[in-house]
Amino acid sequence: MSAVPVYRWRLAPEGLATFRQLRALGLRPAGQPVVAQLERPRRRRGPLVAFLYRIDLARPVRPMTPARWAALERANAARRVCPECGRDAGYRIPASLGTCSPCAYPEAAAA
Ligand SMILES: [Zn+2]
Repeated sequence: MSAVPVYRWRLAPEGLATFRQLRALGLRPAGQPVVAQLERPRRRRGPLVAFLYRIDLARPVRPMTPARWAALERANAARRVCPECGRDAGYRIPASLGTCSPCAYPEAAAA
């Protein structure tokens, strides 16, 4: 493993952030390698080290996973059920109608 550049505390180059700084932005390193590190000297101990990541390679903290897609699908499925007749309309019921189209337009459905 090659050495990464070391910067003094508070002198990190533009575009780099520590893990905690990324978190504050709602981001995570997303598997990218550490590109640099910060060192803060401490008396009688080794320096305090913080790893730096590139902000432009960071990703949002909560990516869509299969479980999250499934949860979204269930939420959408709930919106397909007509509150009037209780049937699955097969599409997302528009908030403007509030019911499936046979309920919203009974005369059209009967015709
Ligand atoms: Zn209906």
